[in-house]
Amino acid sequence: MRKQIAAANWKMNLTAAQAHTLTHALCTSNPAVEDNRLVILGVPFPYIPMALSVAGATKGFAIAAQNCYHKKSGAYTGEVSVEMLASMQVEYVIIGHSERREYFNEDHAVLAEKVNLCLAGGVKPIFCCGEPLSIREAGTQNVFTETQLRESLFHLSAEQLTGFVIAYEPIWAIGTGKTASSEQAQEMHAHIRSVFAGQYGATVADSISILYGGSVKAANATELFGKPDVDGGLVGGASLVAEEFTTIINSLQ
Ligand code: PEP
Repeated sequence: MRKQIAAANWKMNLTAAQAHTLTHALCTSNPAVEDNRLVILGVPFPYIPMALSVAGATKGFAIAAQNCYHKKSGAYTGEVSVEMLASMQVEYVIIGHSERREYFNEDHAVLAEKVNLCLAGGVKPIFCCGEPLSIREAGTQNVFTETQLRESLFHLSAEQLTGFVIAYEPIWAIGTGKTASSEQAQEMHAHIRSVFAGQYGATVADSISILYGGSVKAANATELFGKPDVDGGLVGGASLVAEEFTTIINSLQ
């Protein structure tokens, strides 16, 4: 059975004290997340040691970095490698968030390199995809999103994609308060799964957790997560508030 996941993306928010208070509150409100459910906290790099020490012992919690560099090691001042993350027991890393694609010009090829390094280094990618508003308005979102997946992931083997995590995040719904309807989310998630099924077969496709991201909050999580191909969410703003994110965790199916 594929995992149902509530993943937080704190982005560049919170002081160290606030991050500690939030992590502690989440762990004490959710002391035992059930077996096929998983909470992932995507924290800024400086807070990784704190998050590992506070949440590390809480069942069903894992820590993610929000990025990694696309080279193995070397003279890349200010960057963080997959090897560094792995050496700290960081289990996940968010790859290809639309903000990184847009502000840091991360293209399909760079993202493929990051994914390769993650898989070789034992850190699991949470691979983000999703279309801007202009593409949604033109009705070409399926082809657009499929291309993102094909160009950065389809060189991988079936084994490497088994249990993989994808986050579908329509850019027009990120941080805007505008959520895709649960029908729009289900339609795209089913499409993404069918694309993987076409390339790798139904067993691999059914093992992939496809998270929805874009203004998920306590009030809409149950409806979104109730759709058969929506396996949880990647949550920005609402993951910064302990009660909101706890309700989102409890909305996992
Ligand atoms: C995100 O940044 O991944 C995201 C989905 O943000 P928000 O929930 O704030 O829309």
